[in-house]
Parts: sequence; C-alpha cells; structure tokens
Amino acid sequence: MENEDVIRIKEKAQKMIEKDAQRLVSTSKAIWNYAEPALTEHKSSNLLSKILEDEEFKVERALTNLPTAFVASWGDGRPVIGLLAEYDALPGLSNTEAGKPGHGCGHNLLGTACLGAAVALKRVMQENSIKGTIKVFGCPSEETLYGKVVMAAADLFNELDAAFQWHPGTENSSNYDSLNALDNKVFKFFGKTAHGSTAWEGRSALDAAQLFTLGIEFSREHMEEKDRIHYIISKGGTLPNIVPDYSEVHVFIRSPDMERLLRLSNKVDMCAVGACLATETDYEIERNIGCHLLLPNKTLSLTVNKNLELVGPPKLSKDEKRFLEENLSQRYGEFSEDILPPTGWEVGGEWRGRAISTDVGDVSWIVPTNGMFKVSIAPKGVPYHHVDLTTLANSSIGHKGMIVAAKTLACSAIDLLTNPMILKEAWREFNMRKETLKWSYRPLLPAKIEYPEYKHQAKLTPKTPLSTSGK
Ligand SMILES: [Zn+2]
Repeated sequence: MENEDVIRIKEKAQKMIEKDAQRLVSTSKAIWNYAEPALTEHKSSNLLSKILEDEEFKVERALTNLPTAFVASWGDGRPVIGLLAEYDALPGLSNTEAGKPGHGCGHNLLGTACLGAAVALKRVMQENSIKGTIKVFGCPSEETLYGKVVMAAADLFNELDAAFQWHPGTENSSNYDSLNALDNKVFKFFGKTAHGSTAWEGRSALDAAQLFTLGIEFSREHMEEKDRIHYIISKGGTLPNIVPDYSEVHVFIRSPDMERLLRLSNKVDMCAVGACLATETDYEIERNIGCHLLLPNKTLSLTVNKNLELVGPPKLSKDEKRFLEENLSQRYGEFSEDILPPTGWEVGGEWRGRAISTDVGDVSWIVPTNGMFKVSIAPKGVPYHHVDLTTLANSSIGHKGMIVAAKTLACSAIDLLTNPMILKEAWREFNMRKETLKWSYRPLLPAKIEYPEYKHQAKLTPKTPLSTSGK
C-alpha cells in the first residue's frame, strides 16, 4: 500500500475515535463506577463485549472457566492482531467510599481504549478493504496476575500474529524494557493448639511461619541481585494465650530469568519444609499462579512509539492544570506532556527492566507483544495502586490519555495490517530472543506442591560399621 494511503487511513481512524469519544468516556466511567475486583468483573466484561457485539464483532464469553473473560473477533484471515483489554479494580482503592474497591490502576481506561481502537480499525478496514482479523481479548484478573496465564494455557493467543497492550501511567513512552517473572505461592502451616500456659502440649504453626520467613531472610545473601522475595504473614493466630494451630505466609518470588525463578522458588519451599521439621508441624504449599518475564519486542515498541509521535501526547487544558496544582502538585511532580525516547533490552544484551511483573509476560512468549506502552494520565510520582490514581482514572485527564492510547493502538495496528515487513521483523526478533534465553514457554498454573519424602518420623538407615582392618 502507498505511504499516502496509510497516512490517510491513520487520519481516518483517529477521526473515528474522536467521534466515538463520548461513548468511550461513558464506557470508562461506567466501568470505573462498577469497580469490580479480579474475577468479579461481570458488568465490566459484559459492557465491553456487548458494545463489541453491537459493532459486529463475534464474541465468545466465559472462556476456560473464567466467567469474566471474552474474545471478540472481527475480520477475516491474517494478519491476526490482538488487543489485550483489562478491566479489574483493586480492593480498598475507592476514592468515594472508604474500604470499597476502586480503579487505582486505571484499568477502566485500559480496556476501553482497546475497544475504541478495535471499532475504529474495523471501520477503516471495511472502507479500505484491508484484509486481516482484529481480536479484543477481555482479560480478567490482571491485578492478581492470573487471567492471561490461564487464557494462555488454553491456547487462546496461539493464532495471533502480534499483540498490543497499553497502560495508563505517569509518562508517554513505548520502550522495550522487560518485567520480572513471578512465582506467587501460599505456604500453610498446621500445628496443634493448646493453652498458652501449657504450650508444651501444642505445636505452634506460627513458630513454623516465623522460622520459615527467617529461612527466607538468610537466603537473601545467596540470591542474585535482580531477584526478589516479598512476603506477608497473612494468618498468624488469634490470641497470645492460644497456641496457633494454623498460619499462612503469602510469598512473591521474582527473577528476570525463568530457570533462576524456579530454583529460587524451590529454595523457598525448602525453607518451609525445614521450618516444619524444626517445629514438628505440617505444611501445604500452593502455587496461586506464576507468570513469565516480559519478553520485549523492539520492532513493535518502535512502531508504537512512531505512532505515539504521530498522534501526540495528551495536552492538558488550563482547568486541568489548575486541578492538578490545587489537588496533587504539592505531593507529586509535573505532568509529562513529552514523549520519552524508546530504550530497552537489546537482543542478547543484559536484561533491562523493572522488578514488577505482569501476566502480559505469558502472552509475550507466545506471540510478539508490545507490553510497555504507557500514556500519561497522572503527574510524575503518583503511585500505581493508589487512590489518587483512582481519582485521575475518572477525570478528563484520564480520558485524554485513553483517547491518545486508542488512537496510537489503532495506528500501530494499521502499520502491521498494511506493511507485512514489520511483522516479519517482529517474528525474527521474537525467535532470536527465545533462542538466546533458552527457555520454552510452559505456563505456571495453580498447583499444590508436595515433597513426599518429608516425614516427622525419621527413617533410620543403619551406618556401615567402622572398618577394623587397622589400615
Ligand atoms: Zn494495572
């Protein structure tokens, strides 16, 4: 396709998104008000999939036993372009009702921008007879890093040629950094209760939990620098004069390397087994889920960056600037109206990225994925998972960011639909990265992990008698 045609199609797609802005804003507001946490996003998922259905997308719901997941497809043949929509809220982050869930990570904008991009793409593809398929993936439960891993295990992403994601943030950028892999486990300890004054009759599950976490602390010296372990003692008993017969420790183990992650995770398991041996208690280890490190794709990141430059970053009005000055500026930095130059992890180079994790990581091992595209909806320094982000996710500032994201995603998909060389290069890079990392994808699904050799009763193996030969 001629370059002028591509420019014209991109302009048309952007105009369509502007025309659709009112519907997109009201959709994002509705999802913000629903504020449904992980795996309960029924209304949010229904709203997005209903609009897509009205727009002639074929919608499949409740996939792989995930009642709030959907896949909405439109078009025919290849390339197949995926947009990864999220819509879950976070517990306790409402800015209106204390303790209620709220969109403190802006996923109300995230999912809606994907919808906006998909509808505009459908229309320009129809008008210009562009071949290809657009798929919107309704991915529930991102905040527990769950949805996409389960969807990946059900092979839902397998037929894609490329996947795009964005996230509301505090900068405008599309880099090719990575994010850590994660193993998310719960350790349960079982003891025997007794009155605190006759504690010798019991066996404390809290002792096991404490010894377990001490084991983790001593492991830190032997960990590699980029690896991380975080934990909380989520259950530790009821009263000091009752020996706890149950305790629970929730642990996140992270690494930029899959083999290392699993080794470190196994080391943490051994700390639990050891703690049980020492305290005569029992354990159960459950993997809630694990997710892969994000495999960046420079080719796709640069494509998105080029289109972000074309669309332009969100520009605030005087009123919006005043709102930030009056409400947030004392605590935070400036609102970024610039686009950061793309940087990241080169193929074969040293890992570059952040210690956080995302379930987009799993998708990125199946298909070339752009997983680090951010658009400003908040001043620098506003933390993700914060009530100030909840406020901004339902403001005109958040809505501007959502529209910029929708336009950029649509224009980037247009590049892929009209220039097969980009996809070819993205796949070459994808294969090279996988080859250098020597890891083949296998999802870390929920599981119970057991070490059957561990028993309270020691197995006594007689020692060989000392030699008496006098040698
Ligand atoms: Zn998020």
